[in-house]
Amino acid sequence: MNPPATAGVPHASVPPHPAIVPVPAFDDNYIWLLRDRQRRRAAVVDPGDAAPVLAALAAAGLELAAILVTHHHADHVGGLPELRTAFPEAVVHGPAASRVAGIDRRWQHGDRVELEGFDVRFEVIEIPGHTLDHIAFYAAQVGTNDPRPVLFCGDTLFAGGCGRVFEGTAAQMSASLGRLAALPDETLVYCAHEYTTSNLRFARAVEPDSAPLAERERQTAALRSAGTPTVPSTLALERATNPFLRTGSTQVQQAAQTRLGHAPVDAVEVFAAVRAWKDGFR
Ligand code: ZN
Ligand code: FE
Repeated sequence: MNPPATAGVPHASVPPHPAIVPVPAFDDNYIWLLRDRQRRRAAVVDPGDAAPVLAALAAAGLELAAILVTHHHADHVGGLPELRTAFPEAVVHGPAASRVAGIDRRWQHGDRVELEGFDVRFEVIEIPGHTLDHIAFYAAQVGTNDPRPVLFCGDTLFAGGCGRVFEGTAAQMSASLGRLAALPDETLVYCAHEYTTSNLRFARAVEPDSAPLAERERQTAALRSAGTPTVPSTLALERATNPFLRTGSTQVQQAAQTRLGHAPVDAVEVFAAVRAWKDGFR
């Protein structure tokens, strides 16, 4: 059972989707595995390492049918060659604008991606900023047992935070986060790293008086001490507590102003100031 939540605050302990499980990799990556138990097939998102995926597939008796790639970083694509060798039939879906080798089907903004046999149809959302090739996969529903929308957003939107802006501009990253923030409240946010605890520590520096944030920190600490992933979160929870989706909040704007030494002119400048602060935050 979940602990009782503060009234009106979205709960941080989100019941996970029954068809989606994490495959932990490296120190803090999650490779998301979609199961279709009936067909005994699986799809994985961002397999940075093949070994834990192969072990998870073997343990569950699943064949790999598809791979989704959000962006080119090695901790998201490093397992591709080995997985393609082990499962030559698996189809690799990735960004049209990517330098990644071994992508079979390349997709751009607005494209619909059908995964044959998975009862799912993803919409591709281009979200440049962390990298220029970054895309997200969004589905209004996965399978037939859970009505909640599902978002695989790689390293762009994190639980309580966002990815570093390595290749794009602050304006691009801010617009990309805006695209994700426009998705429905109940959307399950499957990001690729367990960074939530440190992200929320920074969020509290930005919005020290936020009650929803204090509650999320409390719930997150309980989850982590039980060894439970804090991913997925929901977009409602992110909108309530993630400073990078809250550039319209007075407290976030004031924090940006303090960092900048002048009043920010727009939401992009608020975002850029908070992101730059986070880059140096320990
Ligand atoms: Zn990355
Ligand atoms: Fe990453």
